[in-house]
Amino acid sequence: MSKLTVVVPAYNESEGLREFHARLAAVLDQLDLETEVLYVDDGSRDDTFAIMRALRESDPRVSTLKLSRNFGKELALTAGLDYVDADAAVVIDADLQDPPELIPTFVQHWREGYDVVYGTRASRAGETGFKKFTASGFYRVMGRLSSTPIPRDTGDFRLLSRRALDALKQVRERQRFMKGLFTWVGFRQLSVVYHRDPRYAGETKWNYWKLWNFAIEGITSFSGAPLKLATYFGLLTAIVAFLFGLWVLAKALWLGDPVRGYPSLMVVVLFLGGAQLMALGVIGEYLGRLYVESKQRPLYLIDEYRPAG
Ligand code: UDP
Ligand code: MG
Repeated sequence: MSKLTVVVPAYNESEGLREFHARLAAVLDQLDLETEVLYVDDGSRDDTFAIMRALRESDPRVSTLKLSRNFGKELALTAGLDYVDADAAVVIDADLQDPPELIPTFVQHWREGYDVVYGTRASRAGETGFKKFTASGFYRVMGRLSSTPIPRDTGDFRLLSRRALDALKQVRERQRFMKGLFTWVGFRQLSVVYHRDPRYAGETKWNYWKLWNFAIEGITSFSGAPLKLATYFGLLTAIVAFLFGLWVLAKALWLGDPVRGYPSLMVVVLFLGGAQLMALGVIGEYLGRLYVESKQRPLYLIDEYRPAG
């Protein structure tokens, strides 16, 4: 019989974890597959791990993986996926925003031969207008800049076949924009539309500053376009400056040149200064990532791993 592992990264999710497991277990009971649930504790500071351990003792399908500290969701997910030995894996959030009831549909499409089946949100219940607006802006920019199109309104909730998992395992970059990497592996991918619920308990680990950095991560991981932007902007400025120079020269030759033009001088100097600093900043973003990448540190560290059974 084929085996399916459900990978659940969790950070401070003690309030809702039992409820989550109950709902997930009910769904897994219906599948005619060997199933495993791999809980990844991403260095939680509450008793999330104690609950995981209790779940492992009461349910023989549960494995636990504890990271040495909080590494962030992308790395917790990577760690979890690295430990999967099944024929397919499902990635799901622990906060019940992704309905476990969708897993049988994922499995059905996997049996039809799809390698990546991902959930796309039809609604963003419980999110503010501003969040929706910024999210939509991000997907638009990403779509323009990157040659790996990132599906809209798609989180990490998805099923991956064995070969998609193996492909993903080969990607060892430190700055991991998982949504992009899931798409990057290719093979046969399918989207399933679902309604995303509000969080069951606890609170989101995101704020706007983190989201902004996440967006920069996504763009710099999948596109070098901002670097080119500086080049073209510089070229354009040079052309304009050359034409303006000709004009200034001609004017001086024909009309003589009384000293004037302090405001325009200031505008040009400040504008160019600003533009140069911005371009340096863009280069810095990429350089910083290159720096982190070049240190070749391990992606995550494991405190303990307890397989099911
Ligand atoms: N998570 C994690 N490590 C972190 C932050 C979050 O493993 O540093 C987990 C979290 O427990 C949840 C999932 O990632 O299972 C999604 O997190 P959250 O609900 O905060 O994100 P959102 O749904 O708001 O995008
Ligand atoms: Mg959530």
